[in-house]
Amino acid sequence: MLRPHRIGAAIVLALGFGVSAQRGGAPAIPNLAGKVLTVLGPIDPATLGTTLMHEHIFIDFKPPESVGSWAPLQRAPQPPQAQAGQGRQGAGAVQQGGRVGGRGTPGWNLLDNYDESLAEVMEFKKVGGGTIVDVTNFGLSRNPAWLKRISEASGLHVVMGSGWYQKALHPPDMTDRTVEELTDIIVRDVVAGAQGTNIKSGIVGEVGVQGRPITENEIKSIRASARASRLTGAPMTFHMGGGTPEEKQQTLDIVASEGVDLNHVVMGHNGSGDVAVMKQITDRGAYIEFDYIGDAPQTPDDGAGLRQLAERRAQQIKNLIDAGLTDRILVAHDVCTQPQLKKNGGGGFVFTSNLVIPALKALGVSDEVVRRIMIDNPRRVLTFVAPQPLVAQK
Ligand SMILES: [Zn+2]
Repeated sequence: MLRPHRIGAAIVLALGFGVSAQRGGAPAIPNLAGKVLTVLGPIDPATLGTTLMHEHIFIDFKPPESVGSWAPLQRAPQPPQAQAGQGRQGAGAVQQGGRVGGRGTPGWNLLDNYDESLAEVMEFKKVGGGTIVDVTNFGLSRNPAWLKRISEASGLHVVMGSGWYQKALHPPDMTDRTVEELTDIIVRDVVAGAQGTNIKSGIVGEVGVQGRPITENEIKSIRASARASRLTGAPMTFHMGGGTPEEKQQTLDIVASEGVDLNHVVMGHNGSGDVAVMKQITDRGAYIEFDYIGDAPQTPDDGAGLRQLAERRAQQIKNLIDAGLTDRILVAHDVCTQPQLKKNGGGGFVFTSNLVIPALKALGVSDEVVRRIMIDNPRRVLTFVAPQPLVAQK
C-alpha cells in the first residue's frame, strides 16, 4: 500500500516544480537516481574519487532555537580575508607553548574559521582526495554557503547533510512537532535547498541516535529522516544508530519499516566495535563506518604517537576485512575538534591517506581492497535511488 506524500504548503511554493511526479497531485520531487548530489549540484558518481564519509569542515555544537530554524555559526558568513585572526578558538583552545588544549578546553570543539578549514581540506586535495561528506546538520550549526565556497575554492566535491543531530542538541520544541513537519524540512533541504539557500543536501544525517534508551523524539527523527530518504532517494547516515546492539537493530527496523533500502544506510561511529555486532548490521545491507580517528596525541611527541594510533586503527579495520565485510566498510575521521586538525598536531583530513592506508598495506591489505573501501563503497552508498511514495503505516 502506497500513499502520496502530503508536502507542506510552504514547500510547495518554494519548489516551483510545475509537474507532479506522484499520484494525488503532490509536487514533483526530481528523480536523481544514479547521481550523487553535492553542494554544487548533481554529479556522476564515477567522479567522486577517494571519499571521506563523515566529516565536519565547520562545526559548532549548539541546539537550534526551534524546529525549522537553525543555529548559525557564531559569525555570519563573510569574505574569508575579513575574518583573519577572528574566531573563538584562537583565544580559547590554544594554550601555552602553542599546543592546543584537549577535551573540555574552551573552544576545543569549535571549527568556525573559513581560512583554517580551507587549509585543512586542501591537504586532502593535495594527496589525491576527491570528496568530503560533511554530515553537519541541525544542532551542529550547518553552514551551506561556506560549504559551497569551500567546494569551489578547493576543487573537492562536498556532500552536505540534513536532519537532526543527537537528542541533547534537539531544539526545545522537538516534542511538539509531528513526523510530517520534520519530514518536510529534510525534503526541503534535499529538493529546494537548505536554510534559505539553493544549496542542497545530498545525504540525510548524521541522524543522532545516542540511545539508552531511544526516546520518542529520536524515533520521530529517525522516522522523518527515513521518510525523507524514501521520498527523495537520498542516502542516510546515523550518529551511532543506538547505544546497544539491540538499539542499532531497532533503528534499522524503523528505517526498513519506512521502505528505505538499507543498502543506502550508514551506521556511523560503529566500525571499532564487536565484529559480531557489526555483522548484524552488514547482514541487513547497511554500512558500518569506522570514524573519529586521528586525534592528536595527548602528550607532545615526534609524530610516533599518530603513527602508533594509525597502526591500531589499521588493525581494527583489518579485523573487519578478515571477517568478510570489505564491501560494507566506510572510513572517515569525523573531524569535529581542534586537536584533530593537522595544524594542531592531529591527523586532519589526511590521517587515513597518509598513515592508516600505509599501515593497512603493511598488514598485507591490497590496493584493490583499499580502493573498494575508499572509493567504491562511498560511491555505491551515496548514489541516489528513485524517489518513491511513502509506505502506508499500520
Ligand atoms: Zn556523530
